[in-house]
Amino acid sequence: MKISSQFDSGNIEVISANDPSDIRLAIRKDNQSDFFQWFHFRLHTTAGVPHRLRIMNASEAAYADGWHDYRAVASYDRESWFRVETEYDGKELSIDLTPEQNTLYLAYFAPYSFERHQDLLQQSQLSPLCEMVDLGETLDGRDLSMLVIGDSAPEKKVVWIIARQHPGETMAEWFIEGMLDRLLDEDDAVARKLLQECVFHVVPNMNPDGSVRGHLRTNAAGVNLNREWLEPSMKLSPEVFLVRQKMMETGVDLFLDIHGDENLPYNFVAGSEGIPSFDAHLKNLQDRFKAALLAATPDFQTEHGYAIDEPGKANLTMGSTWVGEHFKCLSYTVEMPFKDNADLPDELFGWSDTRSLGFGQDMLTAILAVCGQLRKTH
Ligand code: ZN
Repeated sequence: MKISSQFDSGNIEVISANDPSDIRLAIRKDNQSDFFQWFHFRLHTTAGVPHRLRIMNASEAAYADGWHDYRAVASYDRESWFRVETEYDGKELSIDLTPEQNTLYLAYFAPYSFERHQDLLQQSQLSPLCEMVDLGETLDGRDLSMLVIGDSAPEKKVVWIIARQHPGETMAEWFIEGMLDRLLDEDDAVARKLLQECVFHVVPNMNPDGSVRGHLRTNAAGVNLNREWLEPSMKLSPEVFLVRQKMMETGVDLFLDIHGDENLPYNFVAGSEGIPSFDAHLKNLQDRFKAALLAATPDFQTEHGYAIDEPGKANLTMGSTWVGEHFKCLSYTVEMPFKDNADLPDELFGWSDTRSLGFGQDMLTAILAVCGQLRKTH
């Protein structure tokens, strides 16, 4: 028996792997940080034998409560990721399975590889609608890339969508892939109409270093990028610094920051009610946006989510609040579950890469519903 994680986004430490019924593991912390929860490893063993894998440090993870009702994903072909029996006793996370093949992969959620990220960028730029822009370099020396879809014009609204500030939230990049697929489809009426009225700036992966390193929440320096927006630096958070700098050049009329949530088994959005500039115009836009998304997909709901900030009490170090305040624009954090959508559960796959793709496509319908009203002067 052998357990390995020395590959793109791998993360696990082996404490003991001699007995299939007593495999003991631990999740490694993000570099220079105490955050951990993302895991991804390969198990090479004997098919047909029952296995029990225990993650011994589960209760010290960043969002330990998120392990309740959570089920790990496994894959034989690294394309189809199905859920496996998982239990959390308040201390350890136990995974029980009987492999059908000698080798399988296990992960916190369907991984989105760096190779696929590069493919997404290259294939998107082949579209005549799309141009790739190099924003600069990360601390590990990786490219920070943006896709611009549609031609700029002063009257066009500027839409910014970013994903994976938190690298372990891989559903966010699956979402971007689905959204781009629709936006670049020249036969799609919603996409065509949107590109008449808007230009899109999309950063599919804000944190390539953390992604490749197998981090949950931080970049190469152990910095949580979604707390850096007030004062980013090239030394600690170049990813935010560079994107923010480009936003200052282009302006922003709508911002979506795509994430995954460890706890809540629902898709939801977190708005800007707590920013100093929140007013009737932004409230009206938020309401219209949510109503349109509810109409577009039953995978969205507004009953469950984060507590709404009191007026003026928003944390402006976060992407969606900082952008909302600075540009006085509609700005949302979008959250998808690691678990499942409890309103529409899927026993075999839970919330999945495929469903995240679909949610990204549906998001364009909601953007279209508000794009005419994004600027106060219109
Ligand atoms: Zn997040």
